[in-house]
Amino acid sequence: MIMTNSQKPIGLYLHIPFCKGKCPYCDFYSVAPQKGVTDSYVAALCKKIDEENRVYDTVYFGGGTPSLLGADNVALILSHIRRTPDCEVTLECNPSDTGGINSVFDFEKAAKGGVNRISLGLQSADNSERKSLGRRGGCDDVKRAIARAKAAGIENVSLDLMLGIPNQTKESLLNSVEFCKNSGATHVSAYILKIEEGTFFHKKRESLALPDDDETSELYLAAVNALEEAGFIQYEISNFAKSGFESRHNLKYWHCEEYLGIGAAAHSFADGKRFYYERNIDGFINGKPPVDDGEGGDEEEYIMLALRLSEGLIFKNFENRYGKKVPDCILKKADFLQKHNLVAVDGKRIALTKQGFLLSNAVICELLANYG
Ligand code: SF4
Repeated sequence: MIMTNSQKPIGLYLHIPFCKGKCPYCDFYSVAPQKGVTDSYVAALCKKIDEENRVYDTVYFGGGTPSLLGADNVALILSHIRRTPDCEVTLECNPSDTGGINSVFDFEKAAKGGVNRISLGLQSADNSERKSLGRRGGCDDVKRAIARAKAAGIENVSLDLMLGIPNQTKESLLNSVEFCKNSGATHVSAYILKIEEGTFFHKKRESLALPDDDETSELYLAAVNALEEAGFIQYEISNFAKSGFESRHNLKYWHCEEYLGIGAAAHSFADGKRFYYERNIDGFINGKPPVDDGEGGDEEEYIMLALRLSEGLIFKNFENRYGKKVPDCILKKADFLQKHNLVAVDGKRIALTKQGFLLSNAVICELLANYG
């Protein structure tokens, strides 16, 4: 059977742009939830999903704070989504809303609706570090949220960790990794704090006790080693998983596969094109169409994304996709960078080393310098 574009399963990203407060480092699009607006937003999502009428093999509720929708809304949205039988469905959850003592989030209902993976913002197992990041709730909430999700049959749990938090030490970071190890999590995303323009942290950046570049490198390498010792295998610059628990949805981004993004500020790569919805809830609710962002998936983009992965740029996959060999100029650069222990090259692939991951932007730029 030949599959048309609308039948071939792709990924689906749903942006849920509601947060109870704004964390001082965050530049994701979100506003405070209001009952009427949330209901209209959910209705607009369902309408758009129906109109698209596609089949998805991964679904990712990102935000914002998707768990703020409540399990009823999550299940309602999922009832509109045509999914493959093995579809991975991830819900980003705030620990305080889902693991707080008085939290009423109904994991059973979410699981029945199709959620089979959650992602929790731990950031740090040190409650004073969590507080400095403006995170609601504490580590006990994270533990309770995991226990409640597992009791409802959701075994696949990802935790977000942050590196380079003001006043973070190697010891406190290793304690956070230890927390991940003992928590029953299957996946950890460990991101280095970036001070983004327009955030509260950016305004007061001079007064923040942030680690310098050398200290950040040390924290990153310490986290990578400790996570691997704890059984979380690094499969991307910032992502680690127990065997078989890599995020199938996020792998689509790095493999340059197609996905549809629905919701305010959501980006898509579908039918060869990139497009996005503006950061404007009213616009999305009122049916404003997405903005064209040009063609996607060219060779350069494919190489850049592949090099983020531990498996690296696999020559055979490039050849199958583009019908040609990886250009010589890249292979020559890779040989040079290999001498500096920034990439590893064999007859099948080019992959960044751990040192290379630390300098990934510079290394990837260098590899592509004479390309195109
Ligand atoms: S970090 Fe998460 S919870 Fe905090 S403001 Fe950003 S999206 Fe909302």
